[in-house]
Parts: sequence; C-alpha cells; structure tokens
Amino acid sequence: DNSATDSKNLKLKLVLLGDSGVGKSCIVLRFVRGQFDPTSKVTVGASFLSQVLALEDSTTVKFEIWDTAGQERYAALAPLYYRGAGAAIVVYDITSEESLNKAQYWVKELQKHGSQDMIMALVGNKADLHEKRTVSSQDAQEYADRNNMFFVETSAKTADNINQLFEEIAKRLPRPTP
Ligand code: GDP
Ligand code: MG
Repeated sequence: DNSATDSKNLKLKLVLLGDSGVGKSCIVLRFVRGQFDPTSKVTVGASFLSQVLALEDSTTVKFEIWDTAGQERYAALAPLYYRGAGAAIVVYDITSEESLNKAQYWVKELQKHGSQDMIMALVGNKADLHEKRTVSSQDAQEYADRNNMFFVETSAKTADNINQLFEEIAKRLPRPTP
C-alpha cells in the first residue's frame, strides 16, 4: 500500500481504469519507457511497471503502476485491483463519447469502493486526433471539477502532457511530516 520509505522518498500505488482501447497501456509505456508502439494491438501479459520520478523539491516518488491486462473488457474489475491505491488515472478517448460514459462509471466505482483520500485524474487521451474530437474539453473539465478530480488531455502518441500528468499526481501526494 502507500507509504513513504522516508520523508524524501515516497511511493505510490497507481491504477489505470477506463474502456478498452482508450490508450491506458500506451500512456504507461510512454511514461515508463518513453516509447509509443502503434503496432501493439491489445495488452497482454504482465501489467505491473514501476517508475521513479524526481521532483524539483528533491523528493522522489516511486510509482507502482497497475495496468489491466485487458480484464476491463469482460466485467467489473475486482475491487482488489484498486484497493490500497493512492491514485487512479481514469482514461477516456476524446474521439469517443461512449468512452467518457465508461470513465464516469469507473469514477463512481472508485468513489464507492476506493479509499477516501485517493488522488483521481480524469484523462482525455488521443488528443492528437483533434479533428475527430467528439468530447469537448469544457464538458470533461466540468465533470472533473464536480468530482474532485484534476483533468488533463494527453497524447501517448506525441507524448503531449504525459509527464505532466504523473508530475501533477506526485505533487498532490501528501508529504509525511519528518
Ligand atoms: P488500452 O486498452 O486502454 O490499454 O489501450 P492501448 O494502450 O492498448 O491502445 C489502444 C489503441 O489506441 C492502440 O492501437 C494504440 O496505438 C492507440 N493509441 C493509444 N494512445 C493513443 C494516442 O494518444 N493517440 C493515438 N492516435 N492513438 C493512440
Ligand atoms: Mg491495456
């Protein structure tokens, strides 16, 4: 679960939620490996990655990132998946209103079963496909505001706002008093 190894080195369990195909795995791979592979079809295999991020105030945050291995396709994910998570990234695709509806479903699940102080981000991915946009930034922003989430649009393809997303989560982590 979430704990600080010491006051300068924090760690955080982070989960990704959202409809299949919105780009969750690509966001993680962009952040952890700096890569985007347009040929990768569906997520397979191991879905646990970790990455350390150094902040300006010289604290480090070790993200323990749980990505689904495609289970989001079939049924409700076991609350076991997000139990103990300090942060959740709920992703939709800006070209799919249906994926925003699905994101809203996950937000409700987290509000019901997640921990009270969980940091939650609403992420509109595939921002590079702006000519196919069907979800307005303003609608998503308003929804995020109403649900105490922060909102950002990203592109795992171009890397737009990917690091900023994780930095913003890291900044919101409560700092243990030394
Ligand atoms: P997941 O099911 O949510 O994990 O989605 P994936 O990460 O497997 O991505 C699904 C598909 O969307 C893949 O074909 C990716 O290449 C594509 N994709 C992911 N992120 C982006 C993005 O930011 N822009 C564009 N244009 N395509 C993306
Ligand atoms: Mg995936």
